[in-house]
Amino acid sequence: MNPLCSRCDKVVYPTEKVNCLDKFWHKGCFSCEVCKMTLNMKNYKGFEKKPYCSA
Ligand SMILES: [Zn+2]
Ligand SMILES: [Zn+2]
Repeated sequence: MNPLCSRCDKVVYPTEKVNCLDKFWHKGCFSCEVCKMTLNMKNYKGFEKKPYCSA
């Protein structure tokens, strides 16, 4: 069974899955809460289980 995306609540398939902050995201949905910049495993900062850019 595939998990649901924490941002859009749609199914996340393994090829587009990002597993971060104990949640699953589409690659395109894993973006900064504030400026919506797309993030990846290397440049995100987690705060209260939400992804932010380092700015
Ligand atoms: Zn999504
Ligand atoms: Zn940002």
